[in-house]
Amino acid sequence: MAALSLDRDVLALSAELTETRRVIHRHPELGFQEVRTSGLVAQRLRALGLAVTEGVARTGVVGLLEGGRPGKTILLRADMDALPIQEGSGAEYASEVPGVMHACGHDAHTSMLLGAARILAARRDRLAGCAKFVFQPAEEGPGGALPMIEAGVMRDPPVDLAFGLHLINDFPVGTVALRAGPVMASMDTIGITVRGRGGHGALPHQTVDAIVVAAHVVTALQTLASREISPTVPVVVSLGTIHGGFRHNVIAPEVSLTGTVRTYDEGLRKTLPERIERIVGQVCQAFRGEGEVRYELGYPVTVNDPAMTTLCREVATAVVGPERVQTLDAMMGSEDMAYFLQAVPGCFLFLGSSSAAKGLTAPHHSAEFDFDEACLPIGVQLLVRLVERALEPH
Ligand SMILES: [Zn+2]
Ligand SMILES: [Zn+2]
Repeated sequence: MAALSLDRDVLALSAELTETRRVIHRHPELGFQEVRTSGLVAQRLRALGLAVTEGVARTGVVGLLEGGRPGKTILLRADMDALPIQEGSGAEYASEVPGVMHACGHDAHTSMLLGAARILAARRDRLAGCAKFVFQPAEEGPGGALPMIEAGVMRDPPVDLAFGLHLINDFPVGTVALRAGPVMASMDTIGITVRGRGGHGALPHQTVDAIVVAAHVVTALQTLASREISPTVPVVVSLGTIHGGFRHNVIAPEVSLTGTVRTYDEGLRKTLPERIERIVGQVCQAFRGEGEVRYELGYPVTVNDPAMTTLCREVATAVVGPERVQTLDAMMGSEDMAYFLQAVPGCFLFLGSSSAAKGLTAPHHSAEFDFDEACLPIGVQLLVRLVERALEPH
């Protein structure tokens, strides 16, 4: 296998990247509470001589680096938030905050983007254009990307292209995984209320049993993916909670359900509220009950621009070698990076981060999650070369 191709200044940053990552890892903060993390980010960006805006969408930070020559503006995005998980990794740099943990790798994303800012700031005279470093809150929900866009992050100067990097423990450190087109799903939330009429468990004929009606609703909703929509088109309708009833011999007057709806296609996504309302409403009606659906739109489909994905593939090939660049399978997870990629062309790519030899293979969002820090300089190198390649005057 070919050796990694890392620039000397990137390689020299390795220890600092690990140190920054560990500082952030020790002090994880939940969405929109990233006060300490964003403070660290702003202070580091300022020290590099960047124009820094703090408090964007509450805890977001933006650093602007203007190159020595005019050109395009590239947005690079990292997320800063942690998860409500009690860390069980046993690492010496484990979370010092009870019940909060960086279990998705956003500590790495923040450290890598700071590293890329440092390298690019030192090379600013050579840059034709601007790099905008965006550190966003609350990716794990309710979402910091959209409020940052609403706060004007795509303007002054206007952003032409956007890129983001996410660790992925499904791939070993040294690999890069990417995919053109839809890469992560849309994620909407449904809340369903089934209303019947309560009564005595011995006298069902005097009631409308909301539990029996809800059971039919649950079953009927499965036909959305299996009977209504083409089997070649991915769609997920999963009900995660069901609550109703008081006692074993009392017929429940009401049942409430919640679920998640995911697709890979914005056109199909638009048709789903009607389909779900129809199935729920008419099934309930068939059994003399009433159904109500609350449909909440969440993150859109994350779509990678084909040309920008090709550019990322070329950059990744140059950094890690062709045999370590993998094509990613479509994932039904979702990401608010989607909003940046709705606004401008770009790519959201994945950086292999696991190491079987070091025992670092736990999945994201698990209490044992940790990654091989050798991925950090690789990520920085990818971001730096992406900016330099994309800003290259033609
Ligand atoms: Zn996550
Ligand atoms: Zn994540």
